[in-house]
Amino acid sequence: MITLDFEGTIFDETRQRQKIRKLFAGFGLDYDSICRSFSKHNFFDLDCLKKLKINGERGKTIIKKTTEIVESGKEFIYEDAKIFLEQNKEELGLLTFGDKGFQKLKIKGAGVEKYFRKIVVTQKEKFHEREILSKTDILVENDLVVLESVIKHFKKIKPYLIDRLGIYENVPENIVKIKKLTEIRPACRRQGSNKCR
Ligand SMILES: [Mg+2]
Repeated sequence: MITLDFEGTIFDETRQRQKIRKLFAGFGLDYDSICRSFSKHNFFDLDCLKKLKINGERGKTIIKKTTEIVESGKEFIYEDAKIFLEQNKEELGLLTFGDKGFQKLKIKGAGVEKYFRKIVVTQKEKFHEREILSKTDILVENDLVVLESVIKHFKKIKPYLIDRLGIYENVPENIVKIKKLTEIRPACRRQGSNKCR
């Protein structure tokens, strides 16, 4: 199975955040301080808004409009991710970190559920997710620290680092660096793996 990360790997979280940030600003609210004050992991979820106690119509409108952005998240899927998901013939898994309810909403909103055999949302470090990782042949991540911690525990996994922004310079030799998901197949073939039909 090829297991993918979500944000930064197939989903452009930054663009979605910008859109939500703009919406909040329109109501005179600072999205970033709200996000930080409610979550030690710096992830936003709809509960934040409820805790904020923005009462009345204004509160309802913000929740409704934020939910709408999340539910129509197809626009935030990277172009190469769309192509990869459409053309891929291997079994796919999705392993993502975040608030369970909100993350599920995001994945559903992005319209990508149908491509994955298995979807795991975790609030622990990813290497704890034995069930999905023990079935994983290739893991694609945009976070080098996460990738390295996983392969320390799962030696047979081939690690692929997706470096869309070109921020990683000295990547260990055992890690395959790619810029787009459509590079998975050719890179995998070069390695002589049979996990890349
Ligand atoms: Mg990520």
